[in-house]
Order: sequence, then C-alpha cells, then structure tokens
Amino acid sequence: MGKLKRFLVPVMLLIIFEIVAVVLWLAKGELFYLLNFSYIGICLSGGLILYAYHFKYARLAVQLAVGLYMLVYLGLISQENMQIEGFWYYLFLGIFEAATIHYAVAKIFGPLLFGRGWCGYACWTAMVLDLLPYKVPQKPRKKWGYLRYLLFIGSLLFVGILFLCQVPHLERVMFWSFIIGNILYYSIGIILALVLQDNRAFCKYLCPVTVFLKPMSYWSLLRVKNDESKCLHCDKCRQVCPMDVEMTNNSRKRINGTECILCLRCTEECPTKALHL
Ligand code: SF4
Ligand code: SF4
Repeated sequence: MGKLKRFLVPVMLLIIFEIVAVVLWLAKGELFYLLNFSYIGICLSGGLILYAYHFKYARLAVQLAVGLYMLVYLGLISQENMQIEGFWYYLFLGIFEAATIHYAVAKIFGPLLFGRGWCGYACWTAMVLDLLPYKVPQKPRKKWGYLRYLLFIGSLLFVGILFLCQVPHLERVMFWSFIIGNILYYSIGIILALVLQDNRAFCKYLCPVTVFLKPMSYWSLLRVKNDESKCLHCDKCRQVCPMDVEMTNNSRKRINGTECILCLRCTEECPTKALHL
C-alpha cells in the first residue's frame, strides 16, 4: 500500500460510516445509531491502519471488536435478532431498524462499496471459524454452493410460517431462534471446517447471507487488483487465499471473484507487491 493509500481507505471508510451514523441518528432520533455506526467505523478504520503498520493480528482484532459487539451486546443483551431470520422478521413487520438497517448497510448496499468486507472483518460466525487450523483450504472446492439457497429459502419460510400461524410472543420466539440459530451455525461451521479441512467451508457452501452478498459484491468499488506489469505469475497469492479467488485476473468475472473477503493475505504474500486494493 502506498503511503497515501495507507490512510485513504480507512479514512474513506470512517467518513462513510459517520455519514450513515449521523443520517440515521437524525432520521430516527435515536442516539444509538450515532454510537453504533461510529463504533463500527472506528473499529474498521483503526484495524486497517494497524494492518498498514503490519500489526499481525489487525484483522482478528477488528473481527473480535465488531463481531463480539454484535453477538453479545446487540444479539444477547439487547435481544435483537441480527441473523437473516431477524431481517425477515423486521421486514415483515415493516420496521426499518435493527436487522433491516444492519442488512441494508453491511450486506445489501454496503457491498457495492466494500464488497464482502463484512465477511472478513465483522461476521461473528467467521470470527470463530477463522481461529480453526485450516486457514487455507486443503482440498479442492466442492460444487455445493446451491445449499446456501436452500438455507435462504428455509429462513424465509420459517419466519413466514410464524407470521401466518400468528404464533404468540413472536419477539421471544425470535430471540430464541437467534440463540439456537447461532449454536447451529457454529456447530455446523466447525464440523464442516474440520471435515473439509477448510475454515471457510460454511461461508462457501451454506451461509444464506451470501445470497445477498455475492451479487452485490460483484460490483464492489473496493477490490483486489493486479498490476500485471509487476506480476511474476508465481501463484504464491493463490496459494494463501482462503476463498479460492483468481485475484490475478482483473476482470469482474474472475473465478470466485464474489467470494473475496478482502483479508489481503494475497497482497502480503506477493513478492513484487503487484496486488493492491
Ligand atoms: S459468508 Fe456468512 S458466515 Fe461467512 S463470513 Fe460471510 S456472513 Fe459470515
Ligand atoms: S487472499 Fe486476496 S483474493 Fe483471497 S480473499 Fe483474501 S483478499 Fe480476497
């Protein structure tokens, strides 16, 4: 990263999050939005600055700071279901807050700017999966991506049926579905990672959120690019990518291009620094 660029991306990110924080604070009249989005923006941009200064655990620190905040404070203490079921729930209620705002910013419109930054720096499921031993997949990728659509439809049907059947105490049901859903995600994610020897197997095959993330991140402004005049075609970048991305190809149609989580491992490994944001 050049000296200017070292600060450009984090500062731009902080400005975007502050704009979202102030707009939502003024629009909704709740200080929570100012604090919430400022906190996330500061964590993300601070982490990127630490990364630029080669702090080895910068990404992990951001993942823990944002992921734990969302899981423990928003999910468990404030009892907001921030999983995809929570998104459907608030959407069906016609309420634009909590999970609907979270999805709009992090998973639907935000990826047009910062791709799957959510997956690399904030997701509380991946925060745990990334601690497992298989940071780089040890086996060829499976063609199981269709499973994510089954989970996506399953989550929609689950909440739809709750509404159709007029299940009482829906808020309580959603809170427990958040807890049970997370236990299932962690258990399945860990088992899959160990069996397939790939920490991110859950993200590649099962995560229903990727149904939003993948098409939107196709157009991402922020993406890894290759300066082909410097590239040695040594393949070292490909060997460290957790998501099997063909990052040496600058086309948006690069293989697994919408899987990139912006972890920047490839840019670190490149001996000629041909890869950059
Ligand atoms: S793919 Fe899903 S589980 Fe994986 S990091 Fe992204 S949102 Fe989290
Ligand atoms: S190693 Fe590079 S291409 Fe692969 S996910 Fe990380 S940033 Fe994206």
